[in-house]
Amino acid sequence: MQLIDGKAVAEQVKQEIAAEVAQMTAQGKRAPHLAAILVGHDGGSETYVANKIKACAVCGFKSSLIRFEETVSEAELLAAIDRLNRDDEVDGFIVQLPLPKHIDEQKIVEAIDYRKDVDGFHPVNVGRACIGLPSFLSATPAGILELLRRYKIETAGKHVVIIGRSNIVGKPLANLLMRKDYPGNATVTVVHSYSTDIKEQCLSADIIVCALGRPHFLKEDMVKPGATVIDVGTTRVPSTQTKSGFKLTGDVDFDAVAPKCAYITPVPGGVGPMTIVSLMKNTLLAGAKAIY
Ligand code: NAP
Repeated sequence: MQLIDGKAVAEQVKQEIAAEVAQMTAQGKRAPHLAAILVGHDGGSETYVANKIKACAVCGFKSSLIRFEETVSEAELLAAIDRLNRDDEVDGFIVQLPLPKHIDEQKIVEAIDYRKDVDGFHPVNVGRACIGLPSFLSATPAGILELLRRYKIETAGKHVVIIGRSNIVGKPLANLLMRKDYPGNATVTVVHSYSTDIKEQCLSADIIVCALGRPHFLKEDMVKPGATVIDVGTTRVPSTQTKSGFKLTGDVDFDAVAPKCAYITPVPGGVGPMTIVSLMKNTLLAGAKAIY
């Protein structure tokens, strides 16, 4: 069994990005600029945004954080998005999700100029990715592709089972893995909470991607020997062993499943760091005007 070290790959990709940024600035161009809008003080969102800003510094990007209280109106948020859309000094920006209930998330996502949508959530980017046109790829699926690429894991003709059909992980990943490219050319099965044959599907899978958010869902008897297992799940479960009082738990029963696998990602340290790195890659592309 080989552990897929997402943390190490992420560090390497950030160094590669930093080298490209150094080249850009040496040529007199300005460094890419990522802005983030953060609403409220949710612990998870605060951590994610702080990590994204830290990663910007490592990559040599400029970053800005725009904060709003939980009570911000949808109109105020839309006005901030409009300002960022029109700001030539901002190459890409994100609105950290989830948003408070009184704000329509889809409306917010669609208000972002797709040419600055470095999260890859705008329907234009989702649609373009779906038909194989250049676009900003959704960060988590793009991070998973990068891990498969760096570990040279074959996908052509392989059976990939994805557990979960969310718009940010399951669906875009399924599309990417069936495109005519590498990683891709896979036979993809997507299962979800209505599926009745998840165990059977998993047992025939060469690659299993767990993206459902149910700790330890994937058990040892659901995995065929030699399979690759990618664990996207990050559920916060209470823990007395950490300072924060919780620990991140994946969707895979790691200790039991790992010995059966050819490759497996840990949680934390697998897909998570790659998600941030994909955002950095999209920001680099946005700064270089390489897509739009
Ligand atoms: P989501 O929007 O909550 O969707 C979960 C999906 O899993 C749904 O399609 C749901 O089916 C399916 N599901 C739930 N329970 C199931 C069950 N018992 N059996 C089969 N399918 C089941 O999730 P998400 O946003 O994609 O996130 C999934 C997990 O990944 C979460 O733990 C999240 O925190 C984590 N995540 C991590 C990263 C990272 O960077 N590491 C990034 C994104 C998400 P239905 O559609 O039928 O409801």
